[in-house]
Amino acid sequence: MKTTTRICKICFNRIYTNNIHSFLYNEPICSKCLKELNPVFKKFKIEGIESIAIFEYNETLKKLIYQFKGCLDYELKDIFLAYFVKELKEKYKKYYILPIPSYKQKDLNRGFNQVEEIFSCLNLPILKDVLIKKRDDDQHLKSYVERTKVKDNFLLLNKEILRDKNILICDDICTTGSSLKATIELTKNYINKDVKILVVAKREFSKDELEKIKDKRFVLS
Ligand SMILES: [Zn+2]
Repeated sequence: MKTTTRICKICFNRIYTNNIHSFLYNEPICSKCLKELNPVFKKFKIEGIESIAIFEYNETLKKLIYQFKGCLDYELKDIFLAYFVKELKEKYKKYYILPIPSYKQKDLNRGFNQVEEIFSCLNLPILKDVLIKKRDDDQHLKSYVERTKVKDNFLLLNKEILRDKNILICDDICTTGSSLKATIELTKNYINKDVKILVVAKREFSKDELEKIKDKRFVLS
Protein backbone atom coordinates (compact mmCIF):
# COMPACT_ATOMS: atom_id res chain seq x y z
CA MET A 1 0.00 0.00 0.00
CA LYS A 2 1.34 3.36 -0.98
CA THR A 3 -0.58 6.53 -0.38
CA THR A 4 0.20 10.14 -1.15
CA THR A 5 -3.01 11.70 0.02
CA ARG A 6 -1.50 13.67 2.86
CA ILE A 7 1.01 16.48 3.22
CA CYS A 8 3.34 16.71 6.21
CA LYS A 9 2.31 19.68 8.37
CA ILE A 10 5.93 20.47 9.18
CA CYS A 11 7.91 20.10 5.94
CA PHE A 12 4.97 20.14 3.47
CA ASN A 13 6.33 17.09 1.64
CA ARG A 14 3.92 14.37 0.63
CA ILE A 15 3.61 11.54 3.08
CA TYR A 16 4.43 8.27 1.38
CA THR A 17 3.72 5.41 3.62
CA ASN A 18 3.25 1.71 3.63
CA ASN A 19 2.89 1.81 7.35
CA ILE A 20 -0.57 0.61 8.36
CA HIS A 21 -0.42 2.53 11.65
CA SER A 22 0.28 5.80 9.88
CA PHE A 23 -2.44 5.09 7.36
CA LEU A 24 -5.09 4.21 9.93
CA TYR A 25 -4.40 7.07 12.29
CA ASN A 26 -4.06 9.72 9.62
CA GLU A 27 -0.79 10.95 11.03
CA PRO A 28 -0.13 14.56 10.10
CA ILE A 29 3.67 14.50 9.88
CA CYS A 30 6.17 12.44 7.94
CA SER A 31 8.54 9.95 9.53
CA LYS A 32 11.53 12.20 8.81
CA CYS A 33 10.03 15.07 10.78
CA LEU A 34 9.00 12.72 13.56
CA LYS A 35 12.59 11.55 13.78
CA GLU A 36 13.77 15.15 14.06
CA LEU A 37 11.31 15.77 16.85
CA ASN A 38 12.83 12.77 18.59
CA PRO A 39 10.24 11.10 20.80
CA VAL A 40 12.01 9.82 23.91
CA PHE A 41 9.21 9.18 26.43
CA LYS A 42 11.47 10.28 29.20
CA LYS A 43 10.32 9.26 32.66
CA PHE A 44 10.88 11.60 35.57
CA LYS A 45 9.28 12.49 38.87
CA ILE A 46 7.92 15.75 40.19
CA GLU A 47 7.04 15.75 43.88
CA GLY A 48 7.11 11.96 43.66
CA ILE A 49 4.52 11.85 40.86
CA GLU A 50 5.17 9.66 37.83
CA SER A 51 5.75 11.94 34.85
CA ILE A 52 6.47 11.44 31.17
CA ALA A 53 7.93 13.85 28.61
CA ILE A 54 7.14 12.67 25.09
CA PHE A 55 9.88 14.53 23.19
CA GLU A 56 13.39 15.69 23.71
CA TYR A 57 13.46 19.50 24.07
CA ASN A 58 15.45 20.37 20.96
CA GLU A 59 15.55 23.21 18.42
CA THR A 60 12.94 21.59 16.18
CA LEU A 61 10.48 21.23 19.03
CA LYS A 62 11.21 24.69 20.38
CA LYS A 63 10.54 26.19 16.95
CA LEU A 64 7.29 24.28 16.45
CA ILE A 65 5.92 25.17 19.87
CA TYR A 66 6.69 28.81 19.16
CA GLN A 67 5.08 28.59 15.74
CA PHE A 68 1.99 27.01 17.29
CA LYS A 69 1.40 29.19 20.30
CA GLY A 70 3.35 32.32 19.44
CA CYS A 71 2.51 32.62 15.75
CA LEU A 72 -0.95 31.05 16.18
CA ASP A 73 -0.36 28.32 13.64
CA TYR A 74 -3.39 26.32 14.77
CA GLU A 75 -2.82 23.64 12.13
CA LEU A 76 0.07 22.36 14.24
CA LYS A 77 -2.14 21.36 17.17
CA ASP A 78 -2.15 17.65 16.27
CA ILE A 79 1.46 17.15 15.30
CA PHE A 80 2.79 16.56 18.79
CA LEU A 81 0.64 13.65 19.91
CA ALA A 82 -0.73 12.24 16.67
CA TYR A 83 1.76 9.42 16.33
CA PHE A 84 1.02 8.15 19.81
CA VAL A 85 -2.71 8.70 20.19
CA LYS A 86 -3.55 5.00 20.37
CA GLU A 87 -0.92 4.19 23.01
CA LEU A 88 -1.58 7.29 25.10
CA LYS A 89 -5.33 6.74 25.00
CA GLU A 90 -4.85 3.23 26.24
CA LYS A 91 -2.47 4.25 29.01
CA TYR A 92 -4.60 7.12 30.30
CA LYS A 93 -8.10 5.94 29.41
CA LYS A 94 -9.35 6.28 32.99
CA TYR A 95 -7.92 9.76 33.53
CA TYR A 96 -9.26 13.30 33.38
CA ILE A 97 -6.95 15.92 31.93
CA LEU A 98 -6.11 18.88 34.14
CA PRO A 99 -4.29 21.38 31.91
CA ILE A 100 -1.73 23.78 33.33
CA PRO A 101 -3.50 27.12 32.86
CA SER A 102 -2.44 30.16 30.94
CA TYR A 103 -3.94 33.58 31.52
CA LYS A 104 -7.55 33.58 30.24
CA GLN A 105 -7.30 36.82 28.31
CA LYS A 106 -4.25 35.45 26.53
CA ASP A 107 -6.24 32.37 25.47
CA LEU A 108 -9.03 34.63 24.26
CA ASN A 109 -6.63 36.77 22.26
CA ARG A 110 -4.98 33.69 20.82
CA GLY A 111 -8.32 32.04 20.12
CA PHE A 112 -7.31 28.81 21.79
CA ASN A 113 -5.60 27.34 24.81
CA GLN A 114 -2.50 25.56 23.58
CA VAL A 115 -2.45 22.81 26.20
CA GLU A 116 -6.12 21.89 25.75
CA GLU A 117 -5.65 21.82 21.98
CA ILE A 118 -2.54 19.65 22.00
CA PHE A 119 -4.09 17.07 24.30
CA SER A 120 -7.62 17.16 22.87
CA CYS A 121 -6.76 14.47 20.30
CA LEU A 122 -6.68 11.95 23.15
CA ASN A 123 -10.45 12.42 23.56
CA LEU A 124 -10.18 12.33 27.32
CA PRO A 125 -12.41 14.59 29.41
CA ILE A 126 -10.68 17.91 30.03
CA LEU A 127 -11.24 19.78 33.30
CA LYS A 128 -11.41 23.28 31.87
CA ASP A 129 -11.32 26.38 34.05
CA VAL A 130 -10.81 24.32 37.19
CA LEU A 131 -7.39 25.81 37.72
CA ILE A 132 -6.81 29.34 36.48
CA LYS A 133 -4.02 31.86 36.28
CA LYS A 134 -4.82 35.11 38.05
CA ARG A 135 -2.43 37.49 36.38
CA ASP A 136 -0.61 37.65 33.10
CA ASP A 137 3.02 36.93 33.79
CA ASP A 138 5.24 36.41 30.85
CA GLN A 139 7.51 33.62 31.99
CA HIS A 140 9.82 34.37 29.08
CA LEU A 141 10.88 37.66 30.54
CA LYS A 142 11.54 36.28 33.98
CA SER A 143 14.68 35.03 35.57
CA TYR A 144 14.88 31.35 36.42
CA VAL A 145 14.42 32.18 40.09
CA GLU A 146 11.34 34.34 39.45
CA ARG A 147 9.87 31.59 37.32
CA THR A 148 9.76 29.28 40.27
CA LYS A 149 7.35 31.55 42.16
CA VAL A 150 4.16 30.80 40.27
CA LYS A 151 2.07 29.27 43.00
CA ASP A 152 0.52 32.55 44.13
CA ASN A 153 -0.63 33.16 40.59
CA PHE A 154 -2.69 29.96 40.35
CA LEU A 155 -6.19 29.64 41.73
CA LEU A 156 -8.14 26.41 42.12
CA LEU A 157 -11.75 27.34 41.34
CA ASN A 158 -13.43 23.98 41.64
CA LYS A 159 -11.95 21.64 44.23
CA GLU A 160 -14.80 19.14 44.40
CA ILE A 161 -14.61 18.21 40.74
CA LEU A 162 -11.23 16.56 41.38
CA ARG A 163 -12.67 13.99 43.78
CA ASP A 164 -13.03 10.35 42.72
CA LYS A 165 -11.17 10.97 39.48
CA ASN A 166 -7.79 9.89 38.21
CA ILE A 167 -6.06 13.09 37.19
CA LEU A 168 -3.56 13.58 34.38
CA ILE A 169 -1.84 16.94 34.71
CA CYS A 170 -0.77 18.11 31.24
CA ASP A 171 1.49 20.86 29.95
CA ASP A 172 3.40 21.69 26.79
CA ILE A 173 6.92 22.41 28.04
CA CYS A 174 8.23 21.68 31.51
CA THR A 175 11.01 24.21 32.09
CA THR A 176 11.59 24.71 35.80
CA GLY A 177 8.78 22.37 36.83
CA SER A 178 7.33 25.13 38.98
CA SER A 179 3.92 25.23 37.27
CA LEU A 180 3.57 21.50 37.77
CA LYS A 181 4.70 21.75 41.39
CA ALA A 182 2.26 24.59 42.06
CA THR A 183 -0.56 22.55 40.52
CA ILE A 184 0.29 19.53 42.65
CA GLU A 185 0.47 21.69 45.76
CA LEU A 186 -2.94 23.24 45.12
CA THR A 187 -4.74 20.04 44.16
CA LYS A 188 -3.19 17.28 46.25
CA ASN A 189 -5.66 17.52 49.13
CA TYR A 190 -8.60 17.07 46.78
CA ILE A 191 -7.35 14.24 44.58
CA ASN A 192 -8.22 10.98 46.28
CA LYS A 193 -7.36 8.73 43.33
CA ASP A 194 -4.31 8.50 41.07
CA VAL A 195 -2.41 11.43 39.61
CA LYS A 196 0.11 11.44 36.77
CA ILE A 197 1.88 14.03 34.66
CA LEU A 198 2.27 14.15 30.86
CA VAL A 199 4.14 16.91 29.05
CA VAL A 200 5.15 17.39 25.43
CA ALA A 201 8.79 18.00 26.38
CA LYS A 202 11.01 18.64 29.36
CA ARG A 203 13.86 21.06 29.11
CA GLU A 204 17.11 19.79 30.55
CA PHE A 205 19.90 22.06 31.69
CA SER A 206 23.59 21.67 31.18
CA LYS A 207 26.04 22.02 34.07
CA ASP A 208 26.96 25.40 32.71
CA GLU A 209 23.35 26.58 32.64
CA LEU A 210 22.71 25.23 36.12
CA GLU A 211 25.62 27.27 37.32
CA LYS A 212 24.19 30.42 35.73
CA ILE A 213 20.75 29.71 37.19
CA LYS A 214 22.17 30.35 40.65
CA ASP A 215 22.41 33.96 39.59
CA LYS A 216 19.04 35.48 40.50
CA ARG A 217 18.97 37.64 37.38
CA PHE A 218 19.69 34.87 34.92
CA VAL A 219 17.01 34.82 32.18
CA LEU A 220 16.51 31.69 30.10
CA SER A 221 16.73 32.03 26.35
ZN1 LIG B 1 7.83 16.22 7.23
